[in-house]
Amino acid sequence: MQQAPRVLLRIRPGEAQNAQSIQLADNKQTTVLINGPKPEKAAGKASSGPQYQFKFDSVLQSASQEEVYQAAAADVLKSALDGYNGTIMAYGQTGAGKTYTMSGGRKQSYAQRGLIPRVITQLFSELQSKPSQDCKVNISYLEIYNDSLYDLLDITTAPHEINVYEDRASKVNIVGLRSVTVSSEKEALALLFEGEANRVISEHQLNRESSRSHAIFTIGLEMRTSNDLSGTVVASKLNLVDLAGSERVSKTKSEGTVLKEAAHINKSLSILEQVVLALGEGSEHVPFRSSKLTHVLKDAVGGNCKTVMVANVWAESSQVNETLSTCRFAMRLQRL
Ligand code: ADP
Ligand code: MG
Repeated sequence: MQQAPRVLLRIRPGEAQNAQSIQLADNKQTTVLINGPKPEKAAGKASSGPQYQFKFDSVLQSASQEEVYQAAAADVLKSALDGYNGTIMAYGQTGAGKTYTMSGGRKQSYAQRGLIPRVITQLFSELQSKPSQDCKVNISYLEIYNDSLYDLLDITTAPHEINVYEDRASKVNIVGLRSVTVSSEKEALALLFEGEANRVISEHQLNRESSRSHAIFTIGLEMRTSNDLSGTVVASKLNLVDLAGSERVSKTKSEGTVLKEAAHINKSLSILEQVVLALGEGSEHVPFRSSKLTHVLKDAVGGNCKTVMVANVWAESSQVNETLSTCRFAMRLQRL
């Protein structure tokens, strides 16, 4: 059965002294009202701009990291343990809180930990409570920059080609990407931090700004019940994706590298949207292969996979155009 993706809106608070553009419109926390930019002519005058309304599965305003985990990830992890693939993505303009949502605050205090460390902690706690189940946990951490793949767990060796291809069963394989088997929460968290440190290193050494790349942290599970002599293995995977910044780049103000990056990002995000919509319509042709991002995610979106999009927006009025564009993208995914 085809499941529509679940779309959550997370509002990052702006500075209290600055004007805010978003307010909740209902007490069920599903609808927001956004005060659009003032029309050009009225700029400076008191006249206000148009107001827009958007509805989501849930709106997370002033939500703690734990509340976001419960709303976005808890059931996806549960399904992964039952053998279903899942993908959770953070979408939005640079600065809106995608990395904060997926990985957490820079200080990494316990309360600020994001979805990925919370999923890891919960996963190992679930596995401990099921000692009869033998489960192998594999971690990989991939970065996609300008439609090329990079291994965030392996930047010390000489750069090597990483490629995605499908085997005869149409299963997606990524060749050349490290996949590390871990046996504890501590080991898994260490890989997350290693990958994040590497993302920062490549940001400085290779001049590859992290907001311009997609990062995909993948947890693979292979489960076998120990009293099942037939040896059946149930496998699933969970992709946790920190997408590249969705902001529009001005063609007149930018050049070279920045424009090239922007073109790659726009294309991959637009293909992502087309893929989600094609899946929703049950279309024969789903353009997975048109971008590396969707190709890598192919077997963990749509079908009976759980797909969750956390659309991150910034409440300040100065950001309202990007906020509107993020809300529109998120609305289209819900096919409302
Ligand atoms: P992005 O990854 O979308 O570019 P970040 O996650 O890096 O944005 O967020 C930008 C800054 O705002 C960071 O300093 C981050 O810690 C802070 N921030 C983002 N979202 C929140 C939030 N919900 N609560 C508190 N601080 C936040
Ligand atoms: Mg970021």
